[in-house]
Amino acid sequence: MASLAASGGRHPLLGGMREALPSRNAIPGCRSCGGKDLSTFLSLGDMPLSDGLLAPQDLQQTEPRYPLDVAFCPSCTLVQILETVPPEKLFGADYPYFSSFTDTLLEHSKANVAARLAQRRLDERSLVIELASNDGYLLQFYRARGIPVLGIDPAPGPVAAARARGIETLPAFFGRGLARQLAAEGRRADIIHANNVLAHVADTNGFVEGIGTLLKDDGVAVIEAPYVKELIDHGEFDTIYHEHLCYFSVTALASLFGRNGLSLNRVQPLGIHGGSLRLFVGRRSQADGSVGEYLRAERAAGVDRLKYYSDFCARVQRTRAALVTLLQRLKREGARIAGYGAAAKGTILLNFAGIGREMLEFIADRNVHKQGRYVPGVRLPIVPPARILEEQPDYLLILPWNLQDEIMRQQAEYRRRGGRFIVPIPEPAVL
Ligand SMILES: [Zn+2]
Repeated sequence: MASLAASGGRHPLLGGMREALPSRNAIPGCRSCGGKDLSTFLSLGDMPLSDGLLAPQDLQQTEPRYPLDVAFCPSCTLVQILETVPPEKLFGADYPYFSSFTDTLLEHSKANVAARLAQRRLDERSLVIELASNDGYLLQFYRARGIPVLGIDPAPGPVAAARARGIETLPAFFGRGLARQLAAEGRRADIIHANNVLAHVADTNGFVEGIGTLLKDDGVAVIEAPYVKELIDHGEFDTIYHEHLCYFSVTALASLFGRNGLSLNRVQPLGIHGGSLRLFVGRRSQADGSVGEYLRAERAAGVDRLKYYSDFCARVQRTRAALVTLLQRLKREGARIAGYGAAAKGTILLNFAGIGREMLEFIADRNVHKQGRYVPGVRLPIVPPARILEEQPDYLLILPWNLQDEIMRQQAEYRRRGGRFIVPIPEPAVL
């Protein structure tokens, strides 16, 4: 199927900020099975890096942009983007994301650890490893129970934060090489956590093989990843960005794990991040009924076939048009509008829809590492949330819509004073 190219990223409002494209670094075949006949079903255009927040001095320079094309592999059913941006560009020293800054994620992690401890006897001889452990937001809950932990994360800022709270953390990208080294040192894991990282790694098979190497024979890997069915069914196109190389179905995951000598033994649905899966993977095949149920449901819905994805491009265009029309109408009526949450998905939404300073006055964000910076591409300034009550805009566009309940609770005073919220996904709506 030919690429259904959207004109995303080519909005006239952004015309002055573009530079020549860097050379394409497109994959030669499927990231999982190597199949060559990938079908592109969505092109969001050339996008800046979603987490590449700009410092004031960066505003003098043009930003690199990379194509964002999404394809389906008919051989193993994996949905994936075609471009691989080098990881050092994505997760460098400026990487601003510190996990502990969202309450929802902390509660989710605490409950996750409590459930693991209820299922499995762990003591001071056990080892729990987290891949992409960030600032130790999850491992801290094991450590508080006296269970040895090891974090692995490539981003220097979060690694330093983890070490400062006493959580041993290796500053590295995880893959088969590091897994073999740790296993050779006798550091195999009872539990491996990998939350929202499997989709980020360029060597998908090397990462999964590494998990198998690092697990004890009866160990379990607990892996969380966004569910492609949720993305497609709810129009969550703004969760497509360069960090997210793969968009998994259970069908594609079962194939990926099986190829690397692992067994997908259990699947659990999660509400976090707009609909995710928690996967339980082991070296032994012990699949419970949940895996078969998901596989049957995906086959019945057609998630394993290209046709399921073919009208997504048209739906994404409609969402963009509806959001721009809504904001333009409010502006014509004299409304003042700001944004909340400088999340990666916000970068994609704002750039794809061409929403810049003529529409939004600022983006408020609680993360002090983001404040004082600018959203890539559209260059909206990021300010502390206190600005919301100081300025009292008429509307707040919630960019991390998956955290909308938390954000609306935090902004109860803004609402009490007459402020209103806009959510963009699945359909733009005023709340
Ligand atoms: Zn494939």
